[in-house]
Amino acid sequence: MTAHIDREAAQSAMFEELSDLADTFARRADGYDRTATFPAEDFDDLFAAGLHAPTVPRSHGGLGLGPVGGDTLALWLMTKRLASADLSLARCWEGHTNSLVLIDALGSEAQKSRWFDGVVHRGEKWVAWSGEPRSPKPGEVRRFGTTVRREGDGWVVDGTKVFATSATGADWAILLVDMAGPGGARNSTSDGGAGVLMLACELADPSVSVDSSWWDPIGMRATVSHLVRFDNTFIPDSQRIGEAGDYLRQGWQTAFIPHYAASFLGAAEAAYQYALEYVMRQHKGTDAYVQQRVGAMAVAVETGQLWLKHVADLWDSGRTDEARMAGSRARHLVEHLALDTVDHCVRACGARCLVRPSPVERIQRDLMFYVRHDNDDHILATIGRNALGEPHDQSFYKP
Ligand SMILES: Cc1cc2nc3c(=O)[nH]c(=O)nc-3n(C[C@H](O)[C@H](O)[C@H](O)COP(=O)(O)OP(=O)(O)OC[C@H]3O[C@@H](n4cnc5c(N)ncnc54)[C@H](O)[C@@H]3O)c2cc1C
Repeated sequence: MTAHIDREAAQSAMFEELSDLADTFARRADGYDRTATFPAEDFDDLFAAGLHAPTVPRSHGGLGLGPVGGDTLALWLMTKRLASADLSLARCWEGHTNSLVLIDALGSEAQKSRWFDGVVHRGEKWVAWSGEPRSPKPGEVRRFGTTVRREGDGWVVDGTKVFATSATGADWAILLVDMAGPGGARNSTSDGGAGVLMLACELADPSVSVDSSWWDPIGMRATVSHLVRFDNTFIPDSQRIGEAGDYLRQGWQTAFIPHYAASFLGAAEAAYQYALEYVMRQHKGTDAYVQQRVGAMAVAVETGQLWLKHVADLWDSGRTDEARMAGSRARHLVEHLALDTVDHCVRACGARCLVRPSPVERIQRDLMFYVRHDNDDHILATIGRNALGEPHDQSFYKP
């Protein structure tokens, strides 16, 4: 009982500290967005505040949060708060914290000691990269993708990945590569992803280079999700995490899907807060249409919060099968709630809220782009297939 109260008090102090930091991060977000720069100072501040290792177990000096630690909601609430400051920062943070979850779940004791030490004591940053879309877009001549082959006591990775979040900021990346050929985990061609390896790559390796010319997107600019090239990069067996096929066979992507929803919701909450202050300052709160917009935003945001809590509770009570599908349901619903909230905000506030330095302009660009991370049509069809008892892909929603 006392331990429970202590833990609650510690978490509430942590959220207060995070909230103060997030106000600073919100002020920096515009600069990172304009220059498409990794939010390095934000990560430095999180490290200095002891908040940089949320999903590292407490036995290794972290906060012990997340689906393996058994305190999933606290992690997602942290993410939501960061996303309300800067959605790009939240994407980099998700990549970092999700990678640590994978190490905790699948890494050997030696790997945990080595890598968690770097995170907790040196502020090292992690990310996980699959991104090898197979179909070129019009005008695209380069084919993205990696090959991986066995050599000596390790693996050689050759080729390129895109959407490599935190490319210029992370120290380590978990490369999701497929022994069957290009495609990563998302577009794996091996049977059920059985050939997908997780290889921890130290990004300072001279065979790894970043091509920043590819990443010039409408939103999520500060995620620096560049094209990364691996020129026969050697990765020793000691840096392979888990067994081939573990990522898809054990359904790890499903633990990270609702994490996206936490980020979407954070963006929505920022738009909602902005709208409340804006319309009150302009004395528009008596307008019936504005009232309806505000009402719709309030309900949307609260609905998203309830769904996050519901899914987190399922993970933490060990109801994993239910948690997996509920996570996709939440991911689907929160995408729409968040997009609607931003739309309500813009309609209630008017054109000037889309003029910088208003953050709504960036929030709208970022959210519109970030929700493309998965295809909502396929998510919904997957939920339908599950309800119908049909075979379905809970990780990447393949048709
Ligand atoms: C901001 C951002 C950051 C990201 N960061 C990372 C990261 O750090 N690590 C990482 O691994 N990935 C990351 N991703 C990439 C993501 O994992 C996807 O690979 C990426 O969104 C694919 O780009 P695309 O939509 O152009 O690709 P495509 O694969 O071309 O998909 C385009 C559309 O076609 C649909 N489609 C694809 N195949 C079929 C088919 N056979 N039949 C019908 N429809 C199909 C897709 O569902 C999608 O809607 C990130 C994405 C974003 C937006």
